[in-house]
Amino acid sequence: MAIQTVNPYTNKVERTFDEMSEETIDLLLTQSAKAFTSWKETNYEVRAKILHKVASLMREKKEHLATLITLEMGKLIAQAEGEILLSAAIFDYYATNAKAFLTDKPLKPENGSAYIKSSPIGIILGVEPWNFPFYQVARFAAPNLMVGNTVLVNHASMVPQCALAIEELFDEAGAPNGIYTNLFISGKRASALVSDKRIKGVSLTGSEAAGASIAAEAGRYLKKSVLELGGSDAFIILEDADIDKTVEWAVVGRINNNGQSCVASKRFIAVEAIADEFIEKFKEKLSNLVVGDPMDSKTELGPMSSEEAAVTIIDQIRRSVDAGATILLGGTRADMPGAFVQPTILTDLKPEIPAYYEELFGPVASFYRVKDEETAIILANDSDFGLGCSIFTKDIKRGEKIANQIDAGMVFINHPTWTQADLPFGGTKGSGYGRELSELGIQEFVNKKLIRVSGLSDPL
Ligand code: NAP
Repeated sequence: MAIQTVNPYTNKVERTFDEMSEETIDLLLTQSAKAFTSWKETNYEVRAKILHKVASLMREKKEHLATLITLEMGKLIAQAEGEILLSAAIFDYYATNAKAFLTDKPLKPENGSAYIKSSPIGIILGVEPWNFPFYQVARFAAPNLMVGNTVLVNHASMVPQCALAIEELFDEAGAPNGIYTNLFISGKRASALVSDKRIKGVSLTGSEAAGASIAAEAGRYLKKSVLELGGSDAFIILEDADIDKTVEWAVVGRINNNGQSCVASKRFIAVEAIADEFIEKFKEKLSNLVVGDPMDSKTELGPMSSEEAAVTIIDQIRRSVDAGATILLGGTRADMPGAFVQPTILTDLKPEIPAYYEELFGPVASFYRVKDEETAIILANDSDFGLGCSIFTKDIKRGEKIANQIDAGMVFINHPTWTQADLPFGGTKGSGYGRELSELGIQEFVNKKLIRVSGLSDPL
């Protein structure tokens, strides 16, 4: 894949970058390894100062950075600005809390004393997707840098200007050379890099295919990996839900980021008693969305991230309809230049229809009508993914009871799956393993070192 900016609103190539040579990569790895020897000894206060500075630079340059996001992958400009603020909050969060999260943990052995020390492990490689170009990097880089690891980031090939802008923020914040390094290489070369002895762990956010490739390499070379992969979140609507509010959240859950979020609400499952009311209102709201220029603050649905992404989802719709699915709304490209797809609703889905199990990464909702709560839970769990799930009900106890039966990493009651610095993020089943954000996210690439103090005459 070429490393280039293609504006999905116009499908025009804006800028192209050269891939880095093997020699350059080797040099950057050497630099990162050298940086690690001093960064691991640097105290938390110094590390925190740099991360806080990165956060404040992000806020200062919010408009410019958001414009880069919108230019490269088509996110609505207001959402792009929101992403910059969220990313800054993640840098601040780890800068403020890392020391407490990683403090020595005393143990109570039968005799003598012992404790666990959290130590950095070295260079960690991050392979990141284009859909949240700043936020994904923040949730990988901020905790690792506070641990004392150094990071190499292989960003998605279609957001090179965002990738460079993040590296520049570190330079401007006075970060030592080599603690944060951007790599311009293809995903395939990132997999091959895992074998390098200087790299001690790898974290990938992206598709299952990319995750499987990285995890296979990590397994072969016995390195720790974290995988944040796709999702097909169920959005369950029970008969006692507040339908008007639920429909509002259903629209946000499906079309936020122009439908391209791993934790987007993708499968809408309504119990019979309110199914008609829900689908009528949902369809009406989706069909009235203002589709257009993502730089225009009045636009509600922008283009997909690339022409290829639009072609892929139209193909999923076509294959599903050929196999028996019904289109309730949309189903085709929008009538304008750029990577646009109309808001779409599919129904009559069964396991043999592609849209039943495949992730629909765009403004395409699946709608299911079920007889009761029990059937809703079975259907929600009948997925190869296990990232998030939403349950809408006025009865919170009932919602919590259902949440307990859902096979997912995150369950939200009366809200689409969402994210913030102090809530753990991650999935189960085909959605990957490990967690990012919160205290859990900082503990992934850490040597939990036991230090035991014994008396010379203690028994064995
Ligand atoms: P992708 O094609 O898998 O790309 C993600 C990253 O992996 C890119 O940097 C890509 O590099 C790289 N890559 C591709 N093939 C690779 C390989 N064989 N080995 C190593 N790296 C490889 O995914 P995407 O289309 O950008 O992102 C969409 C997917 O990510 C969706 O499935 C979405 O649900 C998932 N996602 C998950 C989360 C989460 O937190 N669970 C968050 C966001 C997105 P190139 O750009 O050079 O191909």
